[in-house]
Amino acid sequence: MKVTWFGTTTLLFDDGRDQVLFDCHVTRPSIPRYLFGQLRTDAALADRLIERHHIDRLRAIFVSHAHHDHVMDAPFFALRCGAAIYGSPSALNVGRGGGVPEDRLRPFGDPDIIGGFEVTALPSLHSKPTLFNNDLGQTIDRPVAQPARKRNYKEGRSWDFVVRHSGRTYVIRPSFNYIEEQLDGVCADVLFLGVSGLSKADAATRARFFAETVDKVRPHTVIPIHWDDFFSPLAKPVRGMPRFIEDTGRSLRILGDYCGARGINCLVQLPLTSVELSSPSAVVSQENEMTRLEAQRAIDDLRAEAKTLPEMSLDEINAEISAARLERKSRA
Ligand SMILES: [Zn+2]
Repeated sequence: MKVTWFGTTTLLFDDGRDQVLFDCHVTRPSIPRYLFGQLRTDAALADRLIERHHIDRLRAIFVSHAHHDHVMDAPFFALRCGAAIYGSPSALNVGRGGGVPEDRLRPFGDPDIIGGFEVTALPSLHSKPTLFNNDLGQTIDRPVAQPARKRNYKEGRSWDFVVRHSGRTYVIRPSFNYIEEQLDGVCADVLFLGVSGLSKADAATRARFFAETVDKVRPHTVIPIHWDDFFSPLAKPVRGMPRFIEDTGRSLRILGDYCGARGINCLVQLPLTSVELSSPSAVVSQENEMTRLEAQRAIDDLRAEAKTLPEMSLDEINAEISAARLERKSRA
């Protein structure tokens, strides 16, 4: 199974016959555009990625929730590649607004079968609300056409994905949160884990998060996702989230240490690279734009930058984000 990461939580699974996307965001508008401007898929970029990464057998796009950084490019990819969108009513309204035909807008099944893929969507929780993300639980009740505004992409509830294929199981957990006992009985070979929030969470929050994710599914490999700055274009070298939101180097180190102590392989992938997950020792493929060496250097830089921060509860983290934004506003 080849998995290509396009940054944030956008993952392309390819079994050699069919391709399935989980989330779909490549446009990555800047923070000012995200907050105050109009959001529109970068069609030239999307077409370039479709060609360069040979996305020519895409059957389905599964959407974890309907914030812009998970769904905004799904209609474009669905139309270009003839794929169906699977998601919540909110996510389907994004597809509808983008002109995706009704017969290719599908609510989650239990499970959905796409060629050799069996995909189960499990109800999950978004990471805690922030000033950026304070619409949790709100739904999109009308089709969203582009250009759209940030407020149009409401969360509409969140899901995790359990992907079964050829006797192997992959779990995708996009957000730094959990529903207790939701992953009971789910074992996975590989866990894709959203880690944005990890660096500033206090030890108790972190322990509960790991207990409900890594410890439950007991994978041989954990691949962190949603750690890169999704306000920075994919064409630029990857960087961590803005510092006032997250200390990415520290998050990666915490996850790496946690996995290392349990004999679990922690693989940090860079955007636009692929991993071959058929064998327990996943390997970053060389065919992409960034070589493995460059990837390692970028990760090392991030880790070296990591500072020891005071640990905080999620409430304190959100208070800090609010304060940072107010300060930026008063300086502007
Ligand atoms: Zn979100």
